[in-house]
Parts: sequence; C-alpha cells; structure tokens
Amino acid sequence: MASRLAHRHIALQWSYRISSQPSTSQTRPARIFARCIHIFRDIPPLRQHRRQLLLNGDTLGFVPTLGALHHGHLCLIRAAAAENSKVIVSIYLNPTQFGVTEDLNSYPKTWDTDVAQLRALDAELARTHGAGRIEAIFAPTTKAMYPTSPPDSTIPGVGSFITLTPLGTLLEGASRPVFFRGVATVCMKLFNIVQPERVYFGQKDVQQTVVIRRLVTDFHLDTLVRVCPTEREPDGLAMSSRNVYMGQRRRKVSVVLSQALRAAEAAYGMGRRERGDILALAWDVANRMVMEQEALGEAERAGIEVDYFSLADPDSMEEVEVVDGERGAVLSCAIKMLPLEVTKPGEVLGLGEDKVPVRLIDNIILQPQRPS
Ligand code: AMP
Repeated sequence: MASRLAHRHIALQWSYRISSQPSTSQTRPARIFARCIHIFRDIPPLRQHRRQLLLNGDTLGFVPTLGALHHGHLCLIRAAAAENSKVIVSIYLNPTQFGVTEDLNSYPKTWDTDVAQLRALDAELARTHGAGRIEAIFAPTTKAMYPTSPPDSTIPGVGSFITLTPLGTLLEGASRPVFFRGVATVCMKLFNIVQPERVYFGQKDVQQTVVIRRLVTDFHLDTLVRVCPTEREPDGLAMSSRNVYMGQRRRKVSVVLSQALRAAEAAYGMGRRERGDILALAWDVANRMVMEQEALGEAERAGIEVDYFSLADPDSMEEVEVVDGERGAVLSCAIKMLPLEVTKPGEVLGLGEDKVPVRLIDNIILQPQRPS
C-alpha cells in the first residue's frame, strides 16, 4: 500500500506543486499526463516500471546523485540521454558515505530546484532528441535503502557493506575512512534496484569512478560504466554542490586547486615523468597562494590547507614514482578551504556564512603518450 501511494506522477504542468521535500504520504491523487517525470520513493513500483521499460525495448541510463544538482550533474544526464532511450536520476543523500563528523546535516538540500532543473532539461531533451528523456527520479527513503538495520557511519560499521581494499582506503579513503564503503554499498543497492544498461559518473570524482569500475568488474554487475568530463566554472574551479559554502573571498582563492594541477600537467606535457618533477610544480603554486594569503590581514585573507597532491596509477590509484608513459596517470589533489577568521560588513558570504570548512577535490588525467 505505502509503496503504491509513494509512486507519484509529476506532470510538467503542475510541477510547482511539488513539495520542498518528497513526502511519503499521499495528499493528492496520482495523475498522468502525456509527458511526465515519475517520482519513486519506494522500490517495488520502480521495479515494476523498470520491467515495463524492458518489455517496451527501452534502454536505461542511470545517473546517481546526492541532489543539489548543478550543470555538472546535468551534463551526465545529457550523456545518458544521448545513448539510452530512457534515463533515471537518483537523488539520495546517502548517510553511510558521510563520516560521523562530516557534513551530512548541512549538505545542501534543494529538492524543488532539482526537480525544476530536471523538468527543464527533460523539455530540452524532448525537443532535441525526441527520445532519450528523463523517465524518473528515484528519491528513496533511508528505510527503503537500509531495510534491516539503520545506516551506520562509524568505522567498525554494523550492517551489510561492500568494501574494496586497498583501493577504498587510499587518498579520499584515507581522509574519509567510511566514504568509499558507503559509496560502493549504495551504488550496489541502486544498481540492483534500477538495473540500468549504463551508469554515468563524473571524472570530477576520479577515485569514485575507479571504485565503481572495480565494483562492476569484481561483482559481475551487468552494466556499462561511462565517465563524463569534469565541468568547470570559467576560472577553472570544478563545479561541485559544496561550492555554495564559499563566499566571494574563499571562492577567489579556490582557483588554486585547478591552477596547481594545470602547472603539474604542463610538466608532464613537457616530457617530465618523475613524481618529484611533476608534483613540485603543483606544490609551488599552492605554497605561493598560502604565502600570499598569510601576508594579508585577517579580514582579507582566506586560509587553505593542502590535504594531498597525488600522482597515481589509473587502475589501482596507488602512488607512482615514475609515470609509465603508456599507462598515463591520475594527477589529483584535495584542499581544505578554512573558515574565514573575520568577515567584513557587506561581504558576500557563502552558505553557512563561510564558517564551514570546505574540502575541495580535483584531478587531471595525464593521458598515455603514444610512442612516436
Ligand atoms: P554528487 O551528487 O556530488 O554525488 O555527484 C553525482 C555525480 O555527478 C557524480 O558522478 C559526480 O562525479 C558527478 N559530478 C559532480 N560534479 C561534477 C562536475 N563538475 N563535472 C562532472 N561531473 C560531476
């Protein structure tokens, strides 16, 4: 009963009625219009719908997200629509990938805007593709996703989890010990539920793409993994749902991330293969920015801390001393934008008034070089 009631058909014409959070109770009858985005909160109706798509001969692309959608997410959906007749997008803020001290509660939640963006994109896709439209949003409850035990984010972790070692313990996994366990677990659940032909992930989270490929290979999942390029702001900052935490001052300094990576990439482009030679250029850019900021007064500066610069093998994400030109490498980094010490009257501040530390990640693939 509950699952049947939770299956909403949201028509383009009255999407303004969608509540700020997807509700579990039925307050109005489901209505079906010629073109609609279905919203599923529970698993059985989605499964039933998926079966029908199979019978109709549709192909299904799947884009998992945490919500707070931006242009980067929409590009994944466009890519999915280009090679599948239907696309499902999940919006689920998965608790098990956030550590107990991390920003789950303050993570931006923008349900209304997310749905409006998907609706606008769907209309665009209908115009440009004819087919390949956004079929449904899967926004499950946590009870549906974790049916037998509450989601546990502690490091020992009580419950049913997928762990990929050592891959999931490196880099992002070293800083966020439960992150990839949560990601791999929720993706396994989502892939089992949605049964997509293809899944779409962003290069922006490069280690996540390696984890997902490994998950699909090691557990023989019947889906193809597609990785789409990182979408960036005009100054080079990789788009991220977390960027809204940065006001003008921190936002300006955050370009250091992509600038540092580009400097290191240039070294590779000039034929450098030694780790030290490549990463030194990234560190130079970062250190210069740290010093520039430290020289400013409290009301002018934005502090940054580098978590890591990494030069890693593209399949294992293990650090390499020398890049094998035939394999290439992944150049990646994480920095923390520190909370502002002092804010000025009238200053443009981010969500949380720039009191929240913001961890940013970025990467560049050093492409394999063909022997000349
Ligand atoms: P998230 O909601 O942050 O979990 O992201 C959902 C998907 O969007 C992941 O596959 C991300 O890698 C991808 N994504 C996030 N930001 C970008 C971006 N700037 N460019 C391309 N893909 C992105």
